[in-house]
Amino acid sequence: MSELHKFIFEGLPVRGMLVRLTDAWQDILARRAANSETGAYPAPVRQLLGEMAAAGVLMQGNIKFNGALVLQIFGDGPVKLGVVEVQPDLSLRATCTQVGEVADNATLSQMVNVNNEGRCAITLDPQDRLPGQQPYQGVVPLFGDRGEKLENISEVLEHYMLQSEQLDTVMVLAADDKVAAGLLIQRLPIESEGNLAGKTDSLLRESVLGQSEDFSRISILTKSLKREELLGLDAETILHRLYCEEPLARFEPFIGETGPRFACRCNRERVGNMIRSLGSEEVEGIIAEQGQVEVGCDFCGAQYRFDPVDAAGLFTGLPPDLPAGSVH
Ligand SMILES: [Zn+2]
Repeated sequence: MSELHKFIFEGLPVRGMLVRLTDAWQDILARRAANSETGAYPAPVRQLLGEMAAAGVLMQGNIKFNGALVLQIFGDGPVKLGVVEVQPDLSLRATCTQVGEVADNATLSQMVNVNNEGRCAITLDPQDRLPGQQPYQGVVPLFGDRGEKLENISEVLEHYMLQSEQLDTVMVLAADDKVAAGLLIQRLPIESEGNLAGKTDSLLRESVLGQSEDFSRISILTKSLKREELLGLDAETILHRLYCEEPLARFEPFIGETGPRFACRCNRERVGNMIRSLGSEEVEGIIAEQGQVEVGCDFCGAQYRFDPVDAAGLFTGLPPDLPAGSVH
């Protein structure tokens, strides 16, 4: 079963999380493979989307926010769009849109940053968003500090964390056809400066320096984790191997009903709203050509069919969200 583990390093301003998506990830892949129009993801696309899915759960698990976290990559190569959406209850869905061939050994930049126009966006969409209120969105390019193209989505997201939250973050991500997994370590902001007010400047500096050394040591341990280990070992083994000398304190894991799991939020009403937004002329054109309007959900593969009567019903003039029974 898919699982998320949270932990802290006792007495040190460092926290961490480990996610392993197994059934949830296999569900996403199986739905894609069953789509007769697209077929299964090629291996490099699968790795990208799996790493994004693991990262999305880590980022949602890391914030106190009542809303969806949406991680998107907008590509200018054969991969046009990758989307991972994680809800506060850790249910998630993910999809990738690919146009054209992806080589078996394609790198991140060959898939999404061919012409230097690839972007990664992180959106926080509040659950109780007011009409007209915009979700918060941060966008980061796929380049490092020296202008080099980044080849790991983990590096892109580490940059984002540093820019948007001013938090030093180390992320290790990996995905194959069975598992999408990630490990995140983050240096917590120093909030104890008030407590140190009585101390001299040099003591304060020493204290901050000490904390920074702790983070460096834990980062090095974290980065030593190999892809095969992250994919092949269980959470207990990984944490024990990496941090057996560190004062690790674990929280109750999120697993099963509280853990990460696949869930799609599509439904007939939302699809109807989307069709309505095309306008009656466009929809009549589709009906004339195809006899019905058929829309497939990219996330779960569900097919929604609107025959001419259903489609006409979308344009009867009722307000979109008003259930028919409530009209007086
Ligand atoms: Zn769906």
